[in-house]
Amino acid sequence: MAKAKKDNDWNLAPAPESTGHVKIDKKYDLFIGGKFVPPTAKKYFETVNPATEKILSQVAEAGQKDVDKAVKAARKAYDTVWSKMPPVERSKYIFRIARLIQERAREFAIIESIDGGKPIRESRDVDVPLAAAHFFYHAGWADKLNYAFPNAEVSSLGVVGQIIPWNFPLLMAAWKIAPALACGNTVVLKPAETTPLTALKLAELFMDAGLPDGVVNIITGAGSTGQALVEHSDIDKIAFTGSTQVGKMIKRSLAGKSTRLTLELGGKAANIIFEDSAIDQAVEGVVNGIYFNQGHVCCAGSRLFVEESISSEFIRKLKHRMDHLILGDPLDKNTDIGAINSEGQLNTIQSYLEAGEKDGFEMYQSNVAVPKKGFWCRPTLFTHVSQSSVISKEEIFGPVLAMQTFRTIDEVIDKANNTPYGLSAGVWTDKGSKIFNLTTKLKAGVVWANTFNKFDPTSPFGGYKESGFGREGGLHGLSAYLKITG
Ligand code: NAP
Ligand code: MG
Repeated sequence: MAKAKKDNDWNLAPAPESTGHVKIDKKYDLFIGGKFVPPTAKKYFETVNPATEKILSQVAEAGQKDVDKAVKAARKAYDTVWSKMPPVERSKYIFRIARLIQERAREFAIIESIDGGKPIRESRDVDVPLAAAHFFYHAGWADKLNYAFPNAEVSSLGVVGQIIPWNFPLLMAAWKIAPALACGNTVVLKPAETTPLTALKLAELFMDAGLPDGVVNIITGAGSTGQALVEHSDIDKIAFTGSTQVGKMIKRSLAGKSTRLTLELGGKAANIIFEDSAIDQAVEGVVNGIYFNQGHVCCAGSRLFVEESISSEFIRKLKHRMDHLILGDPLDKNTDIGAINSEGQLNTIQSYLEAGEKDGFEMYQSNVAVPKKGFWCRPTLFTHVSQSSVISKEEIFGPVLAMQTFRTIDEVIDKANNTPYGLSAGVWTDKGSKIFNLTTKLKAGVVWANTFNKFDPTSPFGGYKESGFGREGGLHGLSAYLKITG
């Protein structure tokens, strides 16, 4: 392994976000029918701060009976209140939720960073504002669905089961809940085991917003809780974001049923750099695409393709930038790279680092100091990897970049599309014609040009191939929560 020659020479004073105003309870129950209720089996699991390994709270584990209670509460709320309410009234609740998220933005950002390990800069500037934006956007549609789909009859689906991962806990909850409510459905949501706290805070916020009981129910637990939700007989739609492996299991278990399904799954995005690009900006775009947020992004630019003529210069600049990234306390406002979400995920990433080294590829890791406690991974670059290697084929979900070079456009299109995934891609070039050529030929749901990882509630997001089906955001996302006829 090639090591960086020098240590990070920046010496910034610590700038930690204050946490005095944030309240995390010692124990959280299940949010069912508008109130917190203990789980039937009285079982709880721990959620930890991955930056310190300290236990933050005990969280209820929902069993089959609890899942059934939550679905019944959602059905009752659908039949008696939410589906009967004039859309303009539903819209007011969703606007209120959006405003309350804005009011409590700091609290949400801090809890997101403490529970999941992501830098406060990311949770404060990306996750929380985008979560509020999703509620605002969908609140606006709630009473205008006939205009969204003119000349068609639209109606709600009923009770929706939603299962989300740990990388954007609050944002994924917003992506799921906001369109479901706007379209008149009620919800049972299962957050990920390692990051349940912001969803539970959201439950408190729903109570403060006066949302009618049972319209949103939040049930915490492990994979088996998600499975019980998928297998429940009174669910009209399942919306899942997570791994391709679990997505396939869900599709199998719903085969033969009329339950609607959307799947947002994994990715192995290509980030393509042409020699005519603004190289310094492209380096920053690559860093943003894979290292910020620890690579815990489904659409992370984890495969880098650099035109051969600039590859030495690009690698030199990228390594230089990697050496100056700040890794550490997620609550410090200077931090670029926070903690890996869990010990299990760190072990997975480490096994990929070993696989890359075993395959004989050159591995470069920036020489940043790593805290003694907690789960951490230095930003890592593998150069000149082969197309068939494990590290360029499989989703690592960590700050690990696999780089290749190319000589022609056709070659890079072939290489970029040579993956079972198809969630996102990036193109860096000075030429608009190249951008249009590639956006039509890359098999990816989103293609960013001269930028990366940009999101907006008006823009549909979703994948091709094994990255899933269905879209979230925009009119396409809305249509996934409606029956549209005529
Ligand atoms: P995961 O293991 O598939 O888990 C996702 C969610 O499903 C969690 O809530 C999980 O509970 C639950 N779950 C696990 N087994 C289940 C089962 N048999 N039936 C029903 N639910 C089950 O994925 P992850 O490792 O947490 O998340 C990372 C993955 O999500 C990556 O592959 C990433 O690419 C993908 N992702 C995709 C998008 C997108 O929009 N396309 C966005 C974010 C993440 P536990 O937490 O208790 O295991
Ligand atoms: Mg946690």
